[in-house]
Amino acid sequence: MVYFLNEIEQKYLLMHLRPMIRRNPVPEELRGWNWHSPPLKPYYDVKLPMYLICSKYCDTRRDVYLAMVEKAKGEETFNIKLGKAIHDAVSTAINKAKMLDFTSRPEQHENKSIQEAVDLVWEYTIAESKTSFLKARAMQNFASKEDVILTSIPFLVEHRMSGELLGCSGIIAVDCYDYLRNIIFDVKVGRMDEMNARLYTTGYALVVESLYEIPVDVGCTVYISFKNGLSVRRDLHYIDANLRSYWIEERDKKAEIVYNQEDPGKAENCNANCLYRSYCL
Ligand code: SF4
Repeated sequence: MVYFLNEIEQKYLLMHLRPMIRRNPVPEELRGWNWHSPPLKPYYDVKLPMYLICSKYCDTRRDVYLAMVEKAKGEETFNIKLGKAIHDAVSTAINKAKMLDFTSRPEQHENKSIQEAVDLVWEYTIAESKTSFLKARAMQNFASKEDVILTSIPFLVEHRMSGELLGCSGIIAVDCYDYLRNIIFDVKVGRMDEMNARLYTTGYALVVESLYEIPVDVGCTVYISFKNGLSVRRDLHYIDANLRSYWIEERDKKAEIVYNQEDPGKAENCNANCLYRSYCL
């Protein structure tokens, strides 16, 4: 499954990542439940959407200025539409599987290539969920159906949370939270710099910590691509002090732009997928 670790990843998590985290724990001041004290306490009284805090599309951060100060409406590119459709397909397929519905089909998309990608990821997610459920049921045939579902597909998908304590606006939906292994998952469709992608899992982990006061140390970015059929690659990582400080720095720099309402100017190299190309180019 998109969110189900294979044997090698399980070993990496248990034998490498968890022991490393125990030897080098997250400093207390960088836990989300310390949102009321520096450095986590928001420096400016500004609330930003999580995607804007974590987005690294624009070198000058002009996307933040355009979205929050100018209230510009971005134009969705093909890749952004594909990303939305894939996120929706994965979360809907898992929720269907958790109801033991393994026969439903995904919603139809008007674009043929997007539809093909959605079908691939849907079939994969349903097949893996069904296998996981059947395996667990065969091993625990004394357990209730609910018990088997909750342990074989232990994923809260599109879990909605408020990030207000940390200076985030609105309701934040985390792609997936594995409540048995305590891992935050974030799906990326296509390629992205690994460190930048880890900002998202870091932001979600901080929000979970701020709300539920439980430590979340492990994140996993799931890269999905469709170049030669479906490809799924996972980047399991420690949400360490550096990532947490990086997220806080991004939040505060972007909040400063909004607070001062200052246009930071255009970037030199604009990302082909930036929503605001029609405003800047
Ligand atoms: S088009 Fe370029 S300058 Fe404008 S927000 Fe996007 S990346 Fe930044």
